[in-house]
Amino acid sequence: MSDIIKLLPDHVANQIAAGEVVQRPASVVKELLENAIDAGASQIKLIIKEAGRTLVQVIDDGKGMSTTDARLSFERHATSKINSADDLFALNTKGFRGEALASIAAVAHVELKTKPEGEEVGTQIEIEGSVIKSQEVCATLQGTSIAVKNLFFNIPARRNFLKSDSVELRHIIDEFQRVALAHESIVFMLYHNDSELFNLPKANKRQRIVGVFGPKTNEKLVPVTEDTEIVNIDGFIVKPEFSKKTKGEQFFFVNDRFIKHPYLNHSVSAAFDGLLPDRARASYFIYLKVDPKSIDINIHPTKTEVKFEDEHAIYTLLRAAVKHSLGQFNIAPVLDFNRESNMDTPYSYKNKEAQVPKIEVDRHFNPFEQEQKVKTNSFTGTPHYEKKRAAGWENIYEGLDKRNSSNSFSHLQIENEPEPESLFVEHESKGFNDLKETDSDSANTYQLHNKYIVSAIKSGMMLIDQQRAHQRVLYEEFLRNITVKESVSQQLLFPLRLDYSPAELAIFKDLKESLENTGFALDMPEDGVLEVSGIPASIQESEVSIVLEQLLSDVEQEVPDTGFSQTDVLAKSMAKSMAVKTGEKLDELSREHLVNKLFACTEPTMSPFLKKTFITLTVDELDRKFNA
Ligand code: ADP
Ligand code: MG
Repeated sequence: MSDIIKLLPDHVANQIAAGEVVQRPASVVKELLENAIDAGASQIKLIIKEAGRTLVQVIDDGKGMSTTDARLSFERHATSKINSADDLFALNTKGFRGEALASIAAVAHVELKTKPEGEEVGTQIEIEGSVIKSQEVCATLQGTSIAVKNLFFNIPARRNFLKSDSVELRHIIDEFQRVALAHESIVFMLYHNDSELFNLPKANKRQRIVGVFGPKTNEKLVPVTEDTEIVNIDGFIVKPEFSKKTKGEQFFFVNDRFIKHPYLNHSVSAAFDGLLPDRARASYFIYLKVDPKSIDINIHPTKTEVKFEDEHAIYTLLRAAVKHSLGQFNIAPVLDFNRESNMDTPYSYKNKEAQVPKIEVDRHFNPFEQEQKVKTNSFTGTPHYEKKRAAGWENIYEGLDKRNSSNSFSHLQIENEPEPESLFVEHESKGFNDLKETDSDSANTYQLHNKYIVSAIKSGMMLIDQQRAHQRVLYEEFLRNITVKESVSQQLLFPLRLDYSPAELAIFKDLKESLENTGFALDMPEDGVLEVSGIPASIQESEVSIVLEQLLSDVEQEVPDTGFSQTDVLAKSMAKSMAVKTGEKLDELSREHLVNKLFACTEPTMSPFLKKTFITLTVDELDRKFNA
């Protein structure tokens, strides 16, 4: 039999190796950024086009390469970073395999420009699919620029396998952030399709974290430090009250290298024990320094896993350090996560059948309707005189006196109470029919400072906080809609496409059913996108993103545990963002609607956030004031 074993040609071997090193544009980003850091750069610019499909370019001001090195750098196993196997156990650099550039050049069009310090001119090399296309002298700044174009041009299967731009960009940003967080003294910039995504100046660790995650991050961080023989621990934990149900920001760095380490993650989580609700996760930025000899970073090709010699000791030290910080900075949970979940259940909607109520909710109620009319008229120049509704105020209370009238408290049937009026037996002093002034035709409402609604009542007067009152009304409305699944949705002609992070989308996924019960129609057609094709009748299309944004932040803060308290958070959040605000003018009709609906609520005295919705001043009290 003839011999059949052949050595693979280099370009084939490189392509195979590339499969492991270069999985997607983000892998190229990681390798190029790490090379720039190893070259001692003080400023690194990352330029991306079309999520890395067409261009990934890294420009650094590091030490550059000689012409020979530039050529050699694309050879497999060509590295300046280790000389012998011993060096593997004392690594001070990111790279050491000498595989990255060779692999990248095997599957893309690469253009390298580089010039070492003190040289007049630099070297430019173009290489496509491992084939050198050109090499010439060029004028360039000190340092190195590597542009990787048309990634996977020769492996269509790989190219087609790439996810949507938003997903690939997310991976790129993840890599960029990890590297930027680990090297706060290097200036980093990231541009995508010509827009600047990050511009991070030289900073300390706290400033860098804030630079990456935004100014609100600053107040959330609590420092952690501990110096021992085995390990030096430095960094920050995120206060428990800002923890997220979805995986928050969890960053471990070992000797300035981002790593994933479930065991050490457990150690930090253990320190948070009892301070976090069940599904919330601790967030942290922890920088560990250990003797390079005591770790093995060689166990995984993409190098985010590291093996420690003293894993158990580090576990214990880390947990103690985090506990210490939590104690020292007097971190107690703001929310009582151990509360009885029953207590989260307002009223008894939870276990009610879905078909019970005959609710008459005025879904077209719009407190601004009248106001808009006024505006339109004044716009056309026609003076608009609002007609006084004769005896209108009296009609408002009709339903309070007679059962089954259109304004009646049929809402109360939700509670399955035998007598609709029983509410007023329980809350006698709060029943508006007992309070209202019945003997006057001219009884009316009045708006004070665009904030309070003033009304005369039997015993004196009542001042209603319009914002809180409307919150209460909307809250109960949403709660009912979510629970009894009876709501009206308005279909959007053109669905809204909103961009969210994976963590945020996970929250929407959790809330999807409840949101749909309020009238939203949601879809997640691809990663990073929330498509809204229907919205509750009571919301304007332009308000959708605000309502959802508010919801995200409320959910992140409240960390609802149970399905029902999640419903509660949702109803509260939507009520908060949609209620009329202090400072908004309400016309008479809107005021009447609002007062009427408030007193049709199950719990009219308090806003959903447990603030008084109204106060009363009795004639006695007024008399006393006058006689004081
Ligand atoms: P490794 O980083 O594992 O050594 P690479 O394939 O990433 O392997 O790079 C090969 C060599 O090319 C490096 O060892 C280094 O000498 C040189 N090199 C790569 N990128 C740069 C850069 N941005 N500046 C200076 N030298 C570089
Ligand atoms: Mg490298």
